[in-house]
Amino acid sequence: ARTELRGGPRAGCWAACGARGGGKGAQARTVSSGFGLTDLATGEVGRGEGAEVGEGGRQVAALMKAGQLVPDPVMVRIVSERLARNPDEDVLLDGFPRTVEQARALDELLASEGRRVDMVAALTAPEDALIDRLLHRAQVENRADDTRQAIEERMHEYHQRTAPVLDHYRSAGVVVAEVDGVGDPGEVFGRVRVAVRPGAGPDRGPLSH
Ligand code: AMP
Repeated sequence: ARTELRGGPRAGCWAACGARGGGKGAQARTVSSGFGLTDLATGEVGRGEGAEVGEGGRQVAALMKAGQLVPDPVMVRIVSERLARNPDEDVLLDGFPRTVEQARALDELLASEGRRVDMVAALTAPEDALIDRLLHRAQVENRADDTRQAIEERMHEYHQRTAPVLDHYRSAGVVVAEVDGVGDPGEVFGRVRVAVRPGAGPDRGPLSH
């Protein structure tokens, strides 16, 4: 299954988007283990960066706690370092790119290595369902970044800054699979699997069974 999803001769790159609370992280882990991709979750990496001593680490930790995006240059540096460590692996970027600026930087970085983003998958769900899920998770996992204010800020940021990433890739001819994220994780994964199947998507002709 390792090469099943690859778009070209070089290691592939997949991006998983979706507003917070949509189950993006869990789906990304299932997809990457199912298809043999290296899972690079930028939220996890950011938490590591935020734990670093010094001004940079403190800034990252404060932004994450407030539910705000970490500045593009910081995020792009982190991702490029991680990608450089895995030059021959198919990578699933969970939570990146979240801005058009990040997308452009990623495209350039991959192009310089003869790679590209092969597919983008985004989970969709109604906003009130997302807010409920995040508040529930805040209780269960005791996550400092999941206050109501932080959640609402992230929703706003998603519409302003992340939704345009999908258009960026659509207009570049990359398949963008929008998957209904409502339901239990197994059910949602069933939909994800259909959507990310090789040959799926409007730019690659009709779905083949
Ligand atoms: P996540 O677990 O993917 O929802 O990420 C948690 C937090 O990490 C986000 O709320 C941001 O503060 C930060 N973060 C993760 N990915 C990015 C990104 N691509 N750009 C900016 N900040 C990010």
